[in-house]
Amino acid sequence: THTSTITTPYKMSFVTGRVPVGIGRKRMRVVVTGGAGFVGSHLVDKLIKRGDDVIVIDNFFTGRKENVMHHFGNHRFELIRHDVVEPILLEVDQIYHLACPASPVHYKYNPVKTIKTNVMGTLNMLGLAKRIGARFLLTSTSEVYGDPLEHPQKETYWGNVNPIGVRSCYDEGKRTAETLTMDYHRGAGVEVRIARIFNTYGPRMCLDDGRVVSNFVAQAIRKQPMTVYGDGKQTRSFQYVSDLVDGLVALMEGESIGPFNLGNPGEFTMLELAEVVKEVIDPSATIEFRANTADDPHKRKPDISRAKELLNWEPKVPLRDGLPLMVNDFRNRILNEDEGKGN
Ligand code: NAD
Ligand code: UDP
Ligand code: UDP
Repeated sequence: THTSTITTPYKMSFVTGRVPVGIGRKRMRVVVTGGAGFVGSHLVDKLIKRGDDVIVIDNFFTGRKENVMHHFGNHRFELIRHDVVEPILLEVDQIYHLACPASPVHYKYNPVKTIKTNVMGTLNMLGLAKRIGARFLLTSTSEVYGDPLEHPQKETYWGNVNPIGVRSCYDEGKRTAETLTMDYHRGAGVEVRIARIFNTYGPRMCLDDGRVVSNFVAQAIRKQPMTVYGDGKQTRSFQYVSDLVDGLVALMEGESIGPFNLGNPGEFTMLELAEVVKEVIDPSATIEFRANTADDPHKRKPDISRAKELLNWEPKVPLRDGLPLMVNDFRNRILNEDEGKGN
């Protein structure tokens, strides 16, 4: 029944009578949880563009209707206000499970809710996948490596995570979500995929997000000093959002479960990042030091050999090319904010 250029044989699902789109590719019905958020909305754009039917599930905790509004009126797009902590009945072929706040400021805001989202939310989406025979992709995180003692981090590294710290609701929540994913695979035969995402940036990040790239870019635009936490010598590796979205789709369509690191291996200290923002946005930008937060990982850099080999994927956009791509979006939203229209 399935004459596709995609090599993976999809299980027959509840969705029948699909119209073929493109050459040799059937149209999928896809759920994106957290699809009104930063990464989710870019993923939705890509799926809609290739002709899929997309259902977004979002409770708008950190997501915004503005991120997906351009699809309103498209009969292939559906937006459901729903909290993944509650069960839901749907019939789809694929589930991209992104629902979860990603910025430390947001996930620490209500840590118990973060755990419920990661554990009960993931359980519900896996229960759904099991019932309808859908393929399930979990967006896990590089935070599962904690404050890593191995550098760069390979997928085989088990991590160094504080189980009782202020970041644990997220780190341990995602680790449990990975465990649940593998247990539904082993126990119930659910087709699963696991991505471990490293720091990602781009248009549509929340302005008040607290993450370092959104902070520095917004501060530079507002002519405020960029706030460097601690001594600024800690490192992160920054990936542009289109690279991530390409990786997520390659993973979903591919043969391998993972986990796969999806990140850009270009590693920067926070001081170096501030320098790049200065070069790219405003040569007169200044920095200001602030106390760092608890349990901040000292360094982070993905080893992406596995994704290169098995998904034929690697990031294409270096930081210096990616940062300018988010500036217009940030400028416009900051301008609107200043004019009292909100963002
Ligand atoms: P985001 O905060 O912009 O998006 C998360 C979305 O999930 C939002 O739209 C939010 O409203 C929604 N959401 C949160 N809790 C929910 C719930 N209980 N029910 C329904 N919807 C809910 O974050 P993002 O950067 O787009 O991250 C998306 C996913 O990728 C997250 O799972 C995150 O952990 C993962 N990730 C992101 C990064 C990154 O750097 N952006 C890094 C590692 C992992
Ligand atoms: N679930 C859901 N939608 C479905 C199927 C299941 O939300 O279509 C939820 C269900 O309510 C349960 C969870 O997923 O809380 C796990 O479901 P599963 O069938 O694996 O476990 P059980 O219901 O037997 O505990
Ligand atoms: N950071 C910073 N200034 C800021 C926000 C964050 O120096 O305004 C630092 C933070 O201490 C951490 C790094 O930037 O070392 C990345 O933080 P972010 O919250 O973006 O993501 P994380 O990788 O910690 O989840």
